[in-house]
Amino acid sequence: MSPDTPAMDAYWMPFTANRQFKKAPRLLTRADGMYFTDDKGRQVLDGIAGLWCVNAGHNRPRIVQAIQQQAAELDFAPPFQMGHPKAFELAERLTRIMPAGLNKVFYTNSGSESVDTALKMAIAYHRARGEGTRTRLIGRERGYHGVNFGGISVGGIVANRKMFGTMLGGVDHIRHTHDPARNAFSVGQPVHGAEFADDLEKLVALHDASTIAAVIVEPVAGSTGVLIPPQGYLQRLREICDKHGILLIFDEVITGFGRTGSPFAAQTFGVTPDLMTVAKGLTNGCVPMGAVFAAAKIHDAFMNGPEHLIEFFHGYTYSAHPLACAAALGTLDTYAEEGLLTRAAEMQGYFAECLHSLRGEPNVIDVRNIGLVGGVELAPIAGEPGKRAFNVFLDCWDQGALIRTTGDTIALSPPLIIERAQIDQLIDTLRGALKRAA
Ligand code: PMP
Repeated sequence: MSPDTPAMDAYWMPFTANRQFKKAPRLLTRADGMYFTDDKGRQVLDGIAGLWCVNAGHNRPRIVQAIQQQAAELDFAPPFQMGHPKAFELAERLTRIMPAGLNKVFYTNSGSESVDTALKMAIAYHRARGEGTRTRLIGRERGYHGVNFGGISVGGIVANRKMFGTMLGGVDHIRHTHDPARNAFSVGQPVHGAEFADDLEKLVALHDASTIAAVIVEPVAGSTGVLIPPQGYLQRLREICDKHGILLIFDEVITGFGRTGSPFAAQTFGVTPDLMTVAKGLTNGCVPMGAVFAAAKIHDAFMNGPEHLIEFFHGYTYSAHPLACAAALGTLDTYAEEGLLTRAAEMQGYFAECLHSLRGEPNVIDVRNIGLVGGVELAPIAGEPGKRAFNVFLDCWDQGALIRTTGDTIALSPPLIIERAQIDQLIDTLRGALKRAA
């Protein structure tokens, strides 16, 4: 540890093995473009866009200036019964890139808040239309929807649920779509598995459609190991929802803002949800912010009572925070000027080729990809799930590349500005670590 290393006792770190980390801390002190700098002055290639959020790369001048200027001009504005111009401007700008059919923006401060907001919106929407029996929520096994109680209830990652007792009532799960026996090493969308969507029909038969408010899925599940939707799967979910009056929610917290080759995965896959949750890439990760995008029919259902009454009893002190709105506008400018919202479509061929070249490396049992997202699944060490991948993560860090692991899957989601040479660096570093871990 360098003499500059701060005292470490007080900070209880999130989603971190605290005791292990504090013995050998990994501290980041700067970031520019595709690289972090650590406290020892080493350059570390950012293979995960911070945490799926820094889509335009680090330290982008337009975003930095927008935040600085905003802090000096209007540091805070109460969001309830008050507004500020940038909140409206941003919502308007977002409608230009949102999937056709979605055109209302409700701000939050994180992905988790977006999810719980969308779930509440779905239930309240049905109630506003006189269908108050529709309260049941349906998620998916292995789904990740943040860490608030709504999100972990519809989510399906066991570790995120089992410490916390009773979940929300009235929640069911359809099966996840991971099917390595049929789909291992698929390039892009797997061929098999559209029929997993039919689980929704079974739940409709069990509970009756009149009790079901919404289904929430990640179009590409990220935090559970990069699961790409099988061909036709999302279409089939959409059809079943339409048939039974169930709202479809896409959690695009990681897929939003260019990750899959279109502004949103809904456009990449050609399926439009009724509600969409976003965060992360909305501000390039610079200031916390999330949002729910809603179809007009949902918004309009709330607009029937007397005009002076509040229509939706929900919101946060920091909703539409001026610094976040400024950061988001600077981010959208950067994305537009550099064509970043579709750049993953241009780079995905090369990325996929390099990623799939890891097939055959020791312990690699599957490789998955779409846009600039990659997953490399490793055979677990018996009795120690997640350890092999974590060792690979530590080795890559030592070799100057930041990757991420969930269970025994390595996830890659580099900033969308990545160049071919940096894809090479990322994959070569990973290959070396895989060989050494054997
Ligand atoms: N939904 C999805 C799909 C996510 O991947 C995440 C975060 N990785 C969240 C929600 C939660 O976002 P946050 O950490 O900003 O609360």
